[in-house]
Amino acid sequence: MKVVKFGGSSLASGKQLEKVFQIVVSDPERKVVVVSAPGKRFSEDEKVTDLLIECAELSLQNQDPKEKLDAVVARYALIAEELAISSDIIQEIENDLKRRASSDKSNPERFMDLMKASGEDNNAKLVAAYFQSQGVDASYVDPKDAGLLVSDEPGNAQTLPESYTKLASLHDRRGILVFPGFFGYSKEGDVFTFSRSGSDITGSILANALKADLYENFTDVDAVYSVNPSLVSRPKEIKELTYREMRELSYAGFSVLHDEALVPAFRAGIPVNIKNTNNPSAPGTRIVYERDNTNGPVIGIASDEGFCSIYVSKYLMNREVGFGRKLLGILEEFGLSYEHTPSGIDDISVILRENQLAPGMEEEIKRRIETDLNADLVKFEHSLALIMVVGEGMRRNVGTMARASKALAKAKVNIEMINQGSSEVSMMFGVKEVEEKRAVQALYDEFFAAVMV
Ligand code: ASP
Repeated sequence: MKVVKFGGSSLASGKQLEKVFQIVVSDPERKVVVVSAPGKRFSEDEKVTDLLIECAELSLQNQDPKEKLDAVVARYALIAEELAISSDIIQEIENDLKRRASSDKSNPERFMDLMKASGEDNNAKLVAAYFQSQGVDASYVDPKDAGLLVSDEPGNAQTLPESYTKLASLHDRRGILVFPGFFGYSKEGDVFTFSRSGSDITGSILANALKADLYENFTDVDAVYSVNPSLVSRPKEIKELTYREMRELSYAGFSVLHDEALVPAFRAGIPVNIKNTNNPSAPGTRIVYERDNTNGPVIGIASDEGFCSIYVSKYLMNREVGFGRKLLGILEEFGLSYEHTPSGIDDISVILRENQLAPGMEEEIKRRIETDLNADLVKFEHSLALIMVVGEGMRRNVGTMARASKALAKAKVNIEMINQGSSEVSMMFGVKEVEEKRAVQALYDEFFAAVMV
């Protein structure tokens, strides 16, 4: 059997839902359908999840969220109308939203999650109602009944291990199961969501729990591209890549699949197939355990902006026991997570996502490192982009780093830092954000363009 997940753009209108229905019923193996909330119908449109966040924010500021709530209901109502589904379901959705909006707000983050989760929860009810209206045996599954238990971290929930055995009993249910993505329940019975785009995670958890043969993830592109199409025109499509390659790529800006969504499928050895709802006959991209990696060292190039680095130098740092721990300890005190720590004999850089820094924090951290660690120099560098060059083939190809750095030098890109993970599946280059596009193009030309002609 297959677990099939549809993203927001695949469920944004009645027309899209018709495609989803055809895809599901065309293959009897497609038994579990995981849905996102309705997404954008056109580029300036608003996602239902974003509307719900605005509703929650207004309510928390004691303002009337009615206009936004009506806009959410209107999105579902339009879909129901397009598909001629009974309006009872819309009444049910409206009542549910009102109930959530008037619930306890003493814990604002929990309230926010309760509102956000309604996007997928109500959409799953709508999709199940639509399938039933087409004469198909389909039912909505409540994640609470099914036992999808998560940690109580608002907006960043993690699946609890006991979920897997509980969810396995979904096997006993008949017909097509429509499961809402993006959220689960804490042991105390409260709703908590995964991080944004987390419906991908739900699909992967279900694929693992039910030991599916395949996890199909339907989105709005034909394949995962070797590089972001907004940076390089018409890049090569990737037919097959490994879990490790995908994990590295999605970490640094490949938004096709949530970067936490691979692990559950990977652990159970279930292949993932990224496919296009608007072109279901295209083979898409398969993410597998192992692939033939003899055709070149690099499979993809990813890049992401919004990083900063803290450069710390101190003479004889290499001899000082505990220096790294103390440095990271200071960051921990400020609640900061770090991404990489390239280091030399007398210096170390810590790379962080810039959006974690609250106003005034930078000066405070600098002062602490200078005084607590007696550092000679502490310097923040802002607006950095990280570029990941990824490929399992790197392990067996000599000179990939030389090729990459030569290509960057030729394009006159100044490399701020280099890091190669010990797994040898990726190389990371830190460059100034303003040079990102040029750098990516140069690397793409080096590793792909020449191969294509
Ligand atoms: N609807 C949620 C979001 O926009 C989750 C998802 O679509 O996967 O982030």
